[in-house]
Amino acid sequence: MSADAAVRVTNNLEAFWMPFSANRQFKQKPRMLVAAEGTRYRTADGREVLDGTSGLWCVNAGHGRRQIADAVHRQLTELDYAPAFQMGHPKAFELAARLITLTPPGIDHVFFTNSGSESVDTALKIALAYHRVRGEGSRFRLIGRERGYHGVNFGGISVGGIVTNRKMFGTLLTGVDHIRHTHDIERNAFTRGQPAYGAELADDLERLVALHDASTIAAVIVEPVAGSTGVLLPPKGYLERLRAICDRHGILLIFDEVITGFGRLGTPFGADYFGVTPDIMTTAKGVTNGVVPMGAVFVKNEIYEAFMNGPEHLIEFFHGYTYSGNPVSCAAGLATLDIYQEEGLLTRGAELESYFADALHDLRGLPHVIDIRNCGMVGAVELEPIPGAPTKRAFTAFIEAFERGIMIRTTGDIIAISPPLIFEKSEIDELVGTLRDVIGKLD
Ligand code: PMP
Repeated sequence: MSADAAVRVTNNLEAFWMPFSANRQFKQKPRMLVAAEGTRYRTADGREVLDGTSGLWCVNAGHGRRQIADAVHRQLTELDYAPAFQMGHPKAFELAARLITLTPPGIDHVFFTNSGSESVDTALKIALAYHRVRGEGSRFRLIGRERGYHGVNFGGISVGGIVTNRKMFGTLLTGVDHIRHTHDIERNAFTRGQPAYGAELADDLERLVALHDASTIAAVIVEPVAGSTGVLLPPKGYLERLRAICDRHGILLIFDEVITGFGRLGTPFGADYFGVTPDIMTTAKGVTNGVVPMGAVFVKNEIYEAFMNGPEHLIEFFHGYTYSGNPVSCAAGLATLDIYQEEGLLTRGAELESYFADALHDLRGLPHVIDIRNCGMVGAVELEPIPGAPTKRAFTAFIEAFERGIMIRTTGDIIAISPPLIFEKSEIDELVGTLRDVIGKLD
């Protein structure tokens, strides 16, 4: 972008109401990205910024991938759009068939959406409708977890557990309850990988069963690793225990894999990393390398079969989007899978995990650092909040980091990093080295 164009852009910032951003603050001093290639962004003022967050946890194969651009262009000129209902096109079937070669055994069906939020609301509706088609319509309750992030649609914020995202929007869905989150900094601080303490927190689900009766509970939804709330890892044995309780009471277990899907943890899905298979997995982001909006909900065969064999008036699932399985998104998805497979990216995180963990945990001892945690290619550094000014310390780090040429993400006083899976070790060093300088200079 020319200097002129950059000035023009920055002179006209009012119209766009930016999501999840302090608009007034941003517009006083905008951070404008104008290009990206590989692991780096270029800013409007001509600087390079190392992408330490894969965009928003999505650009797993790095930026500017020619193969995806070419596939999208080809698709746009061949079949740009096809109606999504009562009509098909080959790429949607091809992508679905490719995707289920990556999913855990027994999860062989996929419903396409356009985002993580849509995937979550779709999954919740599948769970409710599944019990109905089986004649168990009394199961209407949905259980989420404190601090959980499941997107921004009404189902997602209802089962979600981030207070700021819920409190402006009234009563939300009724019949929703929450189990406690698993973050226990007193007992688990500075753990590499899964923390030792907290598996028994899964028993909260038993308490909700005792309170509401299992016959009223449809599903429980958790992120295998809670990302947006600050990278909270499941304690050892926790997910297994949740799985066992669900099995005992006929409750569906939904893993929200919008972040953990497609190689983030060094395995295709979080379910593989933790060795626990849910009944439904929600995904988005990495399915198209984040470059074209798309989401995918994976369901166990029994769930799909229940709809196929259900009563005549219920065999159609009355749900879907104009862009479900959009040809262009599917083309992007297929090209993305090619890249993941050709370059071994779905397991590359496993190769880099210990190097990444060493680098990150080396920040222990810096001022204000009260916890460091990691899993696959995602990690977090938690800072002690400034009394009376929570979030300020981490947000200052974010601004400083950007000035110094690295992109990190912050939530509360937690710094999260999740680099593209094409990162070299030298780039881990650069990212964490700059972060060290930034944290070292914080008040
Ligand atoms: N679920 C999880 C676990 C997520 O991390 C996100 C996005 N960060 C979403 C759902 C929502 O995805 P989207 O922003 O694509 O709607």
